[in-house]
Amino acid sequence: MKKLLLVYLPFCTPASPPYSITNMYSFLKNNSSAEIDILDLNLEFHKLKFSKYQKYFQNSESWKDYEEVSKEYHRDTHKVYSENNKLVVANKKPEFFDELLDKITSRKPDTVAFSIVYSSQAFFVASMLKELKNVTTVIGGPAINSKLKKLADKTLNNELELLNFIEGNVEHDALNFNTVPDFSIYDLGSYFTPSPVIPLKTSSTCYYQQCTFCSHYSKVPYIESSLDLIKETILKSKQRYFFLIDDMIPKKRLLDLARLFTPLKIKWSCQLKPSKQLDLKTLKILKDSGLDLIIWGLESGNQRILDLMKKGTSIEDITSSLTNSHEAGIKNTVYVMFGFPTETQEEFKDTRDLLVKNEKCIDLISVSIFGLQKGTPVYNNPKLFGITKIIEEERTVLEPRITYEVSKGLSQKQATKLKNNHKKTFDRINKYPQAMNFFREHMLCVVE
Ligand code: SF4
Repeated sequence: MKKLLLVYLPFCTPASPPYSITNMYSFLKNNSSAEIDILDLNLEFHKLKFSKYQKYFQNSESWKDYEEVSKEYHRDTHKVYSENNKLVVANKKPEFFDELLDKITSRKPDTVAFSIVYSSQAFFVASMLKELKNVTTVIGGPAINSKLKKLADKTLNNELELLNFIEGNVEHDALNFNTVPDFSIYDLGSYFTPSPVIPLKTSSTCYYQQCTFCSHYSKVPYIESSLDLIKETILKSKQRYFFLIDDMIPKKRLLDLARLFTPLKIKWSCQLKPSKQLDLKTLKILKDSGLDLIIWGLESGNQRILDLMKKGTSIEDITSSLTNSHEAGIKNTVYVMFGFPTETQEEFKDTRDLLVKNEKCIDLISVSIFGLQKGTPVYNNPKLFGITKIIEEERTVLEPRITYEVSKGLSQKQATKLKNNHKKTFDRINKYPQAMNFFREHMLCVVE
């Protein structure tokens, strides 16, 4: 019998089990005659290197100095990740490489499939692909790149292609698509949270698909997963905390999910963009169903910038969504992006002012600086956004670094400087430790 091993490699935050390979594992178990195995080596690396933090984050009673310890964790991991990435670029093995390789080879697979969700995983994947000689290697996921494609035997787009690859051409009509991701296959008590937090994906992609800076949605159509299968996934996991990893969920669907979740007595979190549809009545229903935390794609407090981003929201939508959510008793985290091409200093201040005006309804701010991504509308039509030049700088493992020049507005450097100058204002608004932005799961499963 053929043996396929699904692997998730470092580096990303070990806060919850990986959704991608778990879903794939369960689909293949239903449809393949091969023996399917799975390994979260990202978790294994962090257990080996950062056991002190694992212990700390698992015991919330010791969290009196949470901000300090989390920042120290962030500094330490940043340093370790960066040093190991440099080793890979220099053609050397990263730390614990042999230990992790041994976990793969000791299972004696014929095929090893790596799921690459974040570009930060590319370095470890590159070094594994170079080392694994006597097995077939497969890569897939949103962060695959042309360098990794050259190293792997095969690049595949989804679980169906992987099934075809290991089985030969399968009869599509005979397949069982009732996939219930089984998270009980992991040692859930090992993740860096006081209680396990399960990632749930309830649809194929974002239904909105219009934001001009966004590269999250792929060309796949928006399809909602069956409510029965979502329920089965929750029941099978036997857990209480669920992080919905969908990029955006429409109101009708949120209400369907609320009806499903209410009797299950779970606590959940999701990502939304502000919308006038999210009135107080709706948000109260969601809260009653266990919705505890919303991560809002707020982006900007200036209408011209919101329109240029095609965010499909207004300043009034932002204010009413945050107010209603807060009144309903839900925690609000907001994503804000500075330095969108052509944004001026005054428009930056509009965002700061909007945050200050709504400060009583905001629990945590996550600030970022705009980065130009390949394949996005901004990248494809730079002139429309005042971009006069795109510069691509070749890199060893990752795709080229993209920088750009603008005809007007703030440069990335100026936006970063302004952001740093206003740090104290943002910190004052935060009701939860700023460092919880590295571990949003902690906001869900600890702070009641
Ligand atoms: S930013 Fe969010 S809402 Fe906008 S297209 Fe991307 S995933 Fe969808």
